Amino acid sequence: MPKDLFTEEEINRIHKAIEEAEKNTSGEIRVHIDLKCKEEVLDRAAFIFEKLGMHQTSLRNSVLFYLATEDHKFAILGDIGINQLVPANFWDQIKETMLNHFKKAEFTEGLFKGINMAGEQLKTHFPYKKDDTDELDNSISFGKKMKR
Ligand code: CA
Ligand code: CA
Repeated sequence: MPKDLFTEEEINRIHKAIEEAEKNTSGEIRVHIDLKCKEEVLDRAAFIFEKLGMHQTSLRNSVLFYLATEDHKFAILGDIGINQLVPANFWDQIKETMLNHFKKAEFTEGLFKGINMAGEQLKTHFPYKKDDTDELDNSISFGKKMKR
């Protein structure tokens, strides 16, 4: 299971990072981890996005960090509310930072930094509001080992 790659402590650290990042922004952040990804990474990320109900935020401002650890595939997928407002290169720096860690198999550190950066950057376009609700669960979701 992909979950075995992370200690309980690391899982908590990522969970907390999402919680903290969402104190900056109304954007909703989720993380999904697979071991393998046989298909096009963006197709898989879109499938997970849908499966997790990530289209259902009121401002359409959720973002998914998708990572397949064994197949070395990674994608950041934002909902249309985000894409309509941010420049095309919005995720570039975040992606690069995360990839630098993933290349060294520092998955937790990479996710931690990426989540922090996403919170900071989304703040400009989607500031946190007092009446914010947690529209999407902050826990990491994990895929099955072989197939979905
Ligand atoms: Ca929220
Ligand atoms: Ca959330």
